[in-house]
Amino acid sequence: MTKRRAKKSVSLLILGAGGDLTKRLLLPGLASLLSAHDYDVQVLGAAREERTDAEWRQLIRDSFGQVTEPEDADRYLESARYITGDVTDAEQLRTLIAACEHTPIIYFALPPAVTTQVCAALRQLDLPDGTRLALEKPFGTDLKSARALNRQIALLVPEEQVFRIDHFLGMSMVLNILGLRFANQFFESVWNGRRIERVEIVYDELLGLEGRGGYYDHAGALVDMLQSHLLEVLALVAMEQPPRLNEVELRSNAAQVLRATHVWDDDPAASSRRARYTAGKVGERSMPSYADEPGVDPALQTETLARVTLEVNTARWQGVPFVLRSGKALGKYVTQVRVHMRPVPEIPGFGGAPAPDSIMLDLKSGAVELGLTMNGSGDPFTLERSILQATKDLGDLLPYGQVLQGIVEGDPLLSVRADMAEESWRIFEPVLRAWRKGEVPLEEYTAGSLGPKGW
Ligand code: NDP
Repeated sequence: MTKRRAKKSVSLLILGAGGDLTKRLLLPGLASLLSAHDYDVQVLGAAREERTDAEWRQLIRDSFGQVTEPEDADRYLESARYITGDVTDAEQLRTLIAACEHTPIIYFALPPAVTTQVCAALRQLDLPDGTRLALEKPFGTDLKSARALNRQIALLVPEEQVFRIDHFLGMSMVLNILGLRFANQFFESVWNGRRIERVEIVYDELLGLEGRGGYYDHAGALVDMLQSHLLEVLALVAMEQPPRLNEVELRSNAAQVLRATHVWDDDPAASSRRARYTAGKVGERSMPSYADEPGVDPALQTETLARVTLEVNTARWQGVPFVLRSGKALGKYVTQVRVHMRPVPEIPGFGGAPAPDSIMLDLKSGAVELGLTMNGSGDPFTLERSILQATKDLGDLLPYGQVLQGIVEGDPLLSVRADMAEESWRIFEPVLRAWRKGEVPLEEYTAGSLGPKGW
């Protein structure tokens, strides 16, 4: 997104301002945005827990301190306000919106069920012109509720003013998929199922629950990661080149990919696996079994590691498995898109078949690796695999800063469109159904391992 000249003034009204998201991701993201761009932002917070304006200002200052200098926050503090109360109450919302000095951005940093209640309450209000709504994932809890939420939101503001947040779309390496694919002769001509054998999109974390059991136990790895973030990455890997890089063209092409995507062989039991961690050590850190974590009900059988194979049923991709995998408390931090090329035929005289080429993008470190086969170093009549590597500078703008910039600018390019949010549930519902029916066993892996044996 390019820097534009006119200074924008907005009121960022964070509903759920006492939560983990606000403190750990949203405010630091805002700090990274404001340290690079001259926007006039009034930061308002609301939650039920009592908090003074001074405490709220201190939280903003501390968040800036994580990214730049705390005093960089000072120019935003005078107008910052915190209002205690229940945001499902229409009168409370009226008070909050009246406190906004500029066009409100209502940011739902709330549990999904509360978000739905707030949307219902907002119908009783006349929202100021240009009001934007920013909604966190998961968007709804299934296809039906996502559709209902979309209908509810459509009654509040036009779609261009709705920002369904997926901060993976704000990661510079995720966006780099577009540059890499479309700006190089090397890739576009081989970017199809005739040349590519398999694509893997992996997000394995070292972290466990980190006190978020209440939320996670009702979501699990599939809903928390695959259904939202990894599917958006898949859409960028698989999409046709958009004629323009704008919200209509990019999102239409991403939506087209999602509409063509389905579970491999339409067999969710054979194409998915799930597991949860048992007690172990991740690095130096001891972790209890997931089932013993606070806020967890073991009877819910929630998975902490999920793997699902999908097919994008287009002329370009038919027959190519896209494997999506994500999990917690694993022994290795892996955030990668891996594209495996089909093998070339054996070359007589070279002693064996060459290893297939590969392309790997590391979303967190910015590394791009090409795995190529060349002649052996000591013996030119053998073959040897070599890695060419480049590392991109990821820049200072955090992913949440990038998506917030889109909201401040009123540009939904990097937000999830209504139909995309529904498609992402449609794709995974057969898997969730099969899991609920017990058609896929819940396996176990020791925290700190690489997952169950044989995955
Ligand atoms: P938390 O449970 O930590 O925070 C939720 C906040 O909502 C609290 O401040 C709570 O405060 C407030 N709240 C709940 N009910 C009400 C109410 N009726 N009126 C006013 N405030 C209310 O959740 P997170 O911050 O972790 O997550 C928020 C959203 O962001 C969720 O949708 C989540 O899925 C999403 N998300 C979170 C990420 C994370 O890493 N944390 C990452 C990506 C998305 P109080 O009880 O005082 O009212």
